Amino acid sequence: MGKSHAYRNLKICSKDCLCLFVCPTGATDNETGQIDFEKCIGCGACAKACPARAITMVPNKMPKQQPKNQVVISELFKIVNSKIEQNKILKSLLKENKEDSRLLKSLIHSNKVMVEDIIREAGYMLPQSKNTHQFLEDIKANGDETSKKIAQTLLDKIEINE
Ligand code: SF4
Ligand code: SF4
Repeated sequence: MGKSHAYRNLKICSKDCLCLFVCPTGATDNETGQIDFEKCIGCGACAKACPARAITMVPNKMPKQQPKNQVVISELFKIVNSKIEQNKILKSLLKENKEDSRLLKSLIHSNKVMVEDIIREAGYMLPQSKNTHQFLEDIKANGDETSKKIAQTLLDKIEINE
């Protein structure tokens, strides 16, 4: 296995085209539509060939998480809290239907995306971080059978590196 493996985003894959022909191991062609992790040697040919940019090369060993200083983390969380407050206001306006609901829904969605990004930026929920592993352990302990299986696979594949 190489240093990375290919991951296909099925939402933007237009199906049955170039990656199937350039892959030297047949890893791109399987019934689930996902690239076969066991067969992929990480050559990157599929990602280069894909016209839809649907394939990303993901490193097998994630780089060390960048340490954040406490001042930066606390500033990031101030922004998170302000976005949460904004969403409370937006949701109450939506309930009262005082404004254009499409605009309110877009603002709520945009705040959610921003909060997710900031939380990731603050060092939470990166694949290689301890808290992601703890999250997966919780799913393994409390989830349904499918979730438990997926959580275990991810725990086996992604090392903690922080
Ligand atoms: S990285 Fe190479 S081996 Fe892996 S799926 Fe793409 S073309 Fe196939
Ligand atoms: S080359 Fe890209 S768009 Fe075409 S089947 Fe492969 S992943 Fe999908």
